[in-house]
Amino acid sequence: MRVGVIGVQGDVSEHVDAVARAMKECGVPGEAFAVRRREELDRVDGLTIPGGESTTISKLLVKLDLFDEIVRRAREEAMPILGTCAGCILLAKDGGVQAKKTGSRLLGLMDMAVDRNAFGRQKESFEADLEVTGLDRPFHGVFIRAPAILRTWGECKPLARHEDKIVLAREGNRIGAAFHPELSNDFRIHRWFLELL
Ligand code: GLN
Repeated sequence: MRVGVIGVQGDVSEHVDAVARAMKECGVPGEAFAVRRREELDRVDGLTIPGGESTTISKLLVKLDLFDEIVRRAREEAMPILGTCAGCILLAKDGGVQAKKTGSRLLGLMDMAVDRNAFGRQKESFEADLEVTGLDRPFHGVFIRAPAILRTWGECKPLARHEDKIVLAREGNRIGAAFHPELSNDFRIHRWFLELL
């Protein structure tokens, strides 16, 4: 199994490590590596898109000729994708006013609307235990200038909330997390993603 981590900006190495750890825990042979070029994207069975700055990641994906190929593989080949924080924003169909303002292109692969920096700048970072549908004990979520999922529709289903906001959703084999599961030293969400592969 080969899992690519979009490696153009953001916390790439943390995701590579988390995927490798999850593979080990599941006893699945495979490799995790950063993807910056088309040849690398062509080799992966699934993709994670890390946290960072969604506008920057979006622009670089277009520039490096990865953007349209990710959309094509997801739509035509049902490639599994895990997007966290900025990656979650990129997976959404609707990025709200802020995404429109910056004119950044979204991959638009999940039926959900997100709001960037939804938890406010004064509290740029916080941690919270989340009740996640399908997990038997809470998941400790690390939120860094996190977006919120405002609503989901169609086949996209909310899996966890913090206060009144959705912070984890799944649509088929795509998962969007507003927080950073790669930073919790708990690999259950990455393992879940591997199961989708
Ligand atoms: N606030 C960032 C954005 O809008 C996301 C932050 C993150 O990925 N930690 O892209």
